[in-house]
Amino acid sequence: TLSDRLTSVFSSLRGKGRLSDEDIDATAREIRLALLEADVALPVVRAFVGQIKERARGEEVSKALNPAQQVIKIVNEELIAILGGETREIRFAKNPPTVIMLAGLQGAGKTTLAGKLARWLAAQRNTPLLVAADLQRPNAVTQLQVVGERASVPVFAPQPGNGVGDPVEVARTSIEHARRNNHNIVIIDTAGRLGIDSEMMQQAADIRDAVTPDEILFVVDAMIGQDAVNTAQSFLDGVGYDAVALTKLDGDARGGAALSIRHLTGRPIMFASTGEKLEDFDLFHPDRMASRILDMGDVLTLIEQAQRTFEESEVEKMASTLASDEDFTLDDFLQQMAMVRKLGPISNLLGMMPGMGQMREQISNVDDKDLDRIAAIIQSMTPGERANPKVINGSRRLRIANGSGTQVSDVNGLVTRFFEAQKMMRQMKNGGMPGMPGMPGM
Ligand code: GDP
Ligand code: MG
Repeated sequence: TLSDRLTSVFSSLRGKGRLSDEDIDATAREIRLALLEADVALPVVRAFVGQIKERARGEEVSKALNPAQQVIKIVNEELIAILGGETREIRFAKNPPTVIMLAGLQGAGKTTLAGKLARWLAAQRNTPLLVAADLQRPNAVTQLQVVGERASVPVFAPQPGNGVGDPVEVARTSIEHARRNNHNIVIIDTAGRLGIDSEMMQQAADIRDAVTPDEILFVVDAMIGQDAVNTAQSFLDGVGYDAVALTKLDGDARGGAALSIRHLTGRPIMFASTGEKLEDFDLFHPDRMASRILDMGDVLTLIEQAQRTFEESEVEKMASTLASDEDFTLDDFLQQMAMVRKLGPISNLLGMMPGMGQMREQISNVDDKDLDRIAAIIQSMTPGERANPKVINGSRRLRIANGSGTQVSDVNGLVTRFFEAQKMMRQMKNGGMPGMPGMPGM
């Protein structure tokens, strides 16, 4: 796997302050291969890997991660950013109905997606109408009717008088029908061809011009790999579209097409289709796609765990400072608060600190604003004052209050509580449980 290869690339590397250029180049080569294996188009791979190198060069070596993990983390974050930048909701028309038109090759999954989308929208209190504007294949209309029945959504199909044999006319009349029957959304299923075809493009463009859709969704099969890029470009030129729906993600495609299409067309990926059933449908999740492209979900989980463990070891270090003979200072105090915030669930933190389990309640009443104010006050003190707060007299308190944008009474309160906390720490070190005088600074 990618992670095995990277780990061997880096096996010699320990304790450097920054990733070396050779290390980054070696990683970049492996990432490049992984992306190509995932069917990401070459120009996209080049641009993307270039970006990763740039970022990796600026990065300090993490204490929590080995270099391979660190670069994978960067790649994963960048993938998510690219795949997820500018995702957005469906734009609803000011005057209903909102018109959504589906375009794509034959077999891409348009008709199936039409049903899924209709069902999904109906579940959100909409009243969609499905429109059968694919008159290319003999059974296309019937297929949509079956899908509509399953989704419990009505289907507008060609009838004598509403444009038999003319998909443009069917689409046009469907809008009037929707308006009369209070459908707030119209989903237009169109005909595809097996390959790019100018007649198909023209028909789709004519339907577009007849109904001026609020959203045109390009529907594309993730299994077609690199071909997806050319198809996406042709549809962009021939019809244009606002967003992409990626289908057949239940297959074994690694999904690099998503990255290529997003990168090359600038269109967001809105929906993901993951099976033949109507429920196999979801909004597109960039993080899932990123880990699929990298094909290393387990490694990503490991990376998260490694970071968490590292943060926990910082807490242990803090706990041992507290247990040492040195007196508890304002710097310790500030560091302790920073940790409380970073680690989230406070009970975890307290569980790790000797003798502190009972303070849960008091700490959890502190909000971020209090912590910000306390941090500002301590940061306005000189190192000497932090190490030995006894020197903080009246004029120093005024200076600190001005420097931190607080009142002298805030500084007084902090100093008083700090002394209480310090006393408590001393008692704890001497083995006694203190009488709960209020957690440091809280
Ligand atoms: P259209 O020609 O674009 O309308 O494509 P269809 O909706 O008719 O789908 C073509 C085939 O792909 C059908 O057999 C569908 O059941 C199947 N299909 C559509 N979406 C998916 C999907 O997400 N996963 C899987 N496995 N099959 C799908
Ligand atoms: Mg179809």
